[in-house]
Amino acid sequence: MTDKLCNVAVAVPLRTTFTYKIPAQLVSEIQIGSRVLVPFRKKSAVGVVTELTAEAPPNAKLREIQKSLDFVPALTPKLLELGQWIANYYVAPIGEVYRAMLPPLTELHAQQRLLLTEIGRSLPDSLDNSDPLCALLKKLKGAKSGLLLQSAIRSGIARPDLLKLQRRGLIEIRQEVQDRKRRMQRIVAWKETPANEHSASPLAGTDKQKLLSEKEEHLKNLLAVERGPLPLSQLIKLSGLSRAHIDRLVRRGKLESWQEPLDAAEDPFDSGYTPPAHALNAEQDRAFAAIRGRFELGEFGVQLLHGVTGSGKTEVYLRAVQDTLARGKTAIVLVPEIALTLWIGRQCRAWFGARFEGVAVLHSALSDVERAREWWRVRNGEARVVVGTRSAIFSPVENLGLIIVDEEQESSYKQEETPRYHGRDVAIVRAKLESALALLGSATPSMETYHHARERKYELLTMAQRVADRALPAPEIVDLREEFKQTHLTSPISSALHKGIEECLAFHTQALILINRRGYSWSVICRSCGASVQCANCSISLTHHKYRNRLECHYCGYTQSIPKKCPKCGSQYVYFFGEGSEQLEERLHKEFPKARIARLDRDTARTKRQYQETLGAFAAGALVVLVGTQILAKGHDFHRVTLVGVVGADSSLNMPDFRAAERTFQLLTQVAGRAGRGDLPGRVLIQTFYPEHYAIQDAVKQDYAAFFERELHFRRVMAYPPFSSLANVIIRDRSLDKAIQWSNQLSQFFTKHAPDEIRVLGPASAPLARLRSEYRFQFLLKSRKKAALAKLLSAAHAYADTKQIPETALLIDMDPLQLL
Ligand code: ADP
Ligand code: ZN
Ligand code: ZN
Repeated sequence: MTDKLCNVAVAVPLRTTFTYKIPAQLVSEIQIGSRVLVPFRKKSAVGVVTELTAEAPPNAKLREIQKSLDFVPALTPKLLELGQWIANYYVAPIGEVYRAMLPPLTELHAQQRLLLTEIGRSLPDSLDNSDPLCALLKKLKGAKSGLLLQSAIRSGIARPDLLKLQRRGLIEIRQEVQDRKRRMQRIVAWKETPANEHSASPLAGTDKQKLLSEKEEHLKNLLAVERGPLPLSQLIKLSGLSRAHIDRLVRRGKLESWQEPLDAAEDPFDSGYTPPAHALNAEQDRAFAAIRGRFELGEFGVQLLHGVTGSGKTEVYLRAVQDTLARGKTAIVLVPEIALTLWIGRQCRAWFGARFEGVAVLHSALSDVERAREWWRVRNGEARVVVGTRSAIFSPVENLGLIIVDEEQESSYKQEETPRYHGRDVAIVRAKLESALALLGSATPSMETYHHARERKYELLTMAQRVADRALPAPEIVDLREEFKQTHLTSPISSALHKGIEECLAFHTQALILINRRGYSWSVICRSCGASVQCANCSISLTHHKYRNRLECHYCGYTQSIPKKCPKCGSQYVYFFGEGSEQLEERLHKEFPKARIARLDRDTARTKRQYQETLGAFAAGALVVLVGTQILAKGHDFHRVTLVGVVGADSSLNMPDFRAAERTFQLLTQVAGRAGRGDLPGRVLIQTFYPEHYAIQDAVKQDYAAFFERELHFRRVMAYPPFSSLANVIIRDRSLDKAIQWSNQLSQFFTKHAPDEIRVLGPASAPLARLRSEYRFQFLLKSRKKAALAKLLSAAHAYADTKQIPETALLIDMDPLQLL
């Protein structure tokens, strides 16, 4: 008898699948798309079955599959196909592509449940009880929530028989992820009461009392200003107070404390407010009619919903999803960041949660168990709407009708590690594979997308007005050169911005202030020799973090203490240069000591909870000023914001990247769009040293069309996307010699094999010449023909294999968003 074999894509950085023997007892269970545990080298690895076969590769010593991990194949045929496309297009190892598509491995907590299908239910009651299978079906008929697979097996039924019942359509086998017992932690917060505000004043008293109230002042600063609520254990460490002391403060009403699951999945906005459904206005109605028209056709299509900020795109999305569900299909809604999954997920639940089976929310801040549970709910068909970030594009929904990509221009859709896919582009490919509609939405579409819309590859739907006749804000420029001439000060807060914040305080409205660097100062420079303090592993300046009292690398996480002397020349004149968000917040506290100010960036929002709390506090009106990085620019709908300030509009213009102007324009337009979303009109102040730059000028005019034309001209002249496709190829290694040797070899390959229609620039030292201790050389490939580019990259990869260039040393980035 010939062995039963199968090919398995193992999650390792190798671009092939591997053939394994299927042991007899697993033959009935192993299906295409199932996850299996296989021996790989000296370990076990998880892989996905891609093919059942009888042919062994010549002279191979085959090993056996160890275990089948799925009763229901995790990946559907469509997802397997999508994975293949990704592997080819992005030149990525298939096993790693599938790993990115799969739920987290939480097998220890998974169980399978058996349920009767409609057909199973319609079987006559007079089944033969002596047959164990019939007995099982009968038992299932009585059991409302089905039976656990384990208990069926314990009662003597064999797995293959269950699969037979499943294939005949009598039963359904669902994979469920069990709850682990939730681990709890105690959280402590500063209690905001009027009495509390004054009680901390260190008036007269013994020295001991003074010391204690100083500690309490520090505690207040920590909990109310710097960090927000903290787990008890962390608080003890940071404050230097004992547990007993903290308990005492809780009893005295200065602090409050509560228990919280270690991985809280709950939605912070849930106790708050869901916007009411609105009747669509004329523009929204026209857009929605066009979407419905597409659904009528029932075929693949791409639409771009270009709606200015505040034009009510969400409302159109929700109707589109509603219509999809009414047609018996499913929908995926992609949003660029976690807070928006919660916000839109909540609106979806309010709209669809009750009527339809449910909404799933998928994002990276869920714990593995939570994510696996949501994932299997989708796979089992229990949830028919999925809201999530980038990787939710791989949701295992079947019968897909609609994929929405909100803020399609956002760079967070691009994965910057293998597989380096772009969520929006994968969304379009998936829509095509499943004959679904891809609906891209934005106020500032990417150059590529808008170009396609103008060329009529995508259908363009426009909403040019804000809802309820609200005005678009008219941003004002604060010319920092003039400011300096007048004041001779270099404060990040100009006098106009200062006045604006005063007005917010006077009128009880709110301000958002954007700065696009975090930390206190971006670099530490020696006045004597000019050297900056660099990361030990990367060729990049370290950022000063004052609160944590150290220098940090924002690329690799390296930290070091603050040098007293220049590490190069020993001079004592080191100085700190460039304001970051931490410094801006500190200055705001100084200038507005009474105002409630908080900061939102990756340093203050380390956990989801902190992040949500700050946003929640701002939404609830408990804060007057929120300072933060890009996260502030995205999608939020705060109604009391009357002032938006942009402190460092220029730093994004100065990036060595052809997309710098596009990014600056998008950022300014988006952040300006946060103002004036309620009944109060909004002001936007943009502080800049380059008021003449067209990205800034057009953002001030909020004129997308003008910007697009100018930028398109530049792209055409320079043959940049959308007029060409790019690929970034990086050779990296810890050894400089090897990196040089391999890039020379690759260079020879390109010289010989690159066809005329592909331009190869390089090898050159990459803009980040060293990163995480690796030396980096770069080739930039440019072509008008995507297919030719893909072919050459694939060949280059194969060539690298023959030269024993390790898989990890060769980094291929197709359609790169960053050229670093
Ligand atoms: P966008 O995403 O286009 O910036 P949103 O979808 O956030 O805009 O909508 C902005 C605000 O307008 C929201 O508060 C929303 O509830 C409200 N809104 C949406 N549609 C209407 C409508 N037809 N009439 C009145 N208000 C609306
Ligand atoms: Zn020096
Ligand atoms: Zn570093």
